[in-house]
Amino acid sequence: MTPVLRLRAATRIHPGGVVAMNAVDLDVEPGELLAVVGPSGSGKSTLLHTMGTLDRPTSGTVQVDGIDIAGLSDRRLSALRARRLGFVFQQFRLAAGVSAVENVATGLLYAGVPRRRRHPLAAEALERVGLAHRMTHRPHELSGGEQQRVAIARALVNGPALVLADEPTGALDTATGQTVLELLTRLHAEGTTIVVVTHDRHIAACMPRQVEIRDGRIHSDSAWGVA
Ligand code: ADP
Ligand code: MG
Repeated sequence: MTPVLRLRAATRIHPGGVVAMNAVDLDVEPGELLAVVGPSGSGKSTLLHTMGTLDRPTSGTVQVDGIDIAGLSDRRLSALRARRLGFVFQQFRLAAGVSAVENVATGLLYAGVPRRRRHPLAAEALERVGLAHRMTHRPHELSGGEQQRVAIARALVNGPALVLADEPTGALDTATGQTVLELLTRLHAEGTTIVVVTHDRHIAACMPRQVEIRDGRIHSDSAWGVA
């Protein structure tokens, strides 16, 4: 099977010379749920931005669904990202003053889904995350946990090959964070491929696979040594 994501010797040097990601080799197979875990400053967000093609590596290769992104123009890359990837961030990043269903529907705009189809698909995605009763609420009318579930629905709405979540529980209290993790676990059971980036070992321990990052390098991967 083609991995949904393949990094080879992926390296990212930030302006100023910080080597935030150093020769990373990583495959994510369809249907996986894995945690990338490491302390603050270890390079997790840099890795996630590279996996999500938001940043290109300084050297090395990134393949999404077997396609080497180095060969794509920025425009083609944006289209690939819109169609194949979903993102969830710590601070939700919902548009203020816009209803939950419209926030989710924007996830389809750049994927070229016609306007009349966006709303029903967005409503369906909100149902999947248990927010059928919150469609017309705006972000400030929702709890933090609900806002993150809207963001998850937005990430899912296009049926992505891979969902990338950067500290998805980082802005939530422990109990609410737990419900978000349970949601991600259920979505994985339903077939969604998910990478969760976290500094929290307890969260990582709940995932079927853990990749540990230190100083921009993969320090360990629970998939190593498994035949
Ligand atoms: P984490 O998400 O694990 O906290 P980051 O990927 O954000 O780690 O950062 C890894 C390293 O790269 C840190 O030393 C950080 O200061 C540096 N870094 C991150 N982003 C930038 C940037 N845009 N410009 C310069 N240095 C950066
Ligand atoms: Mg980070």
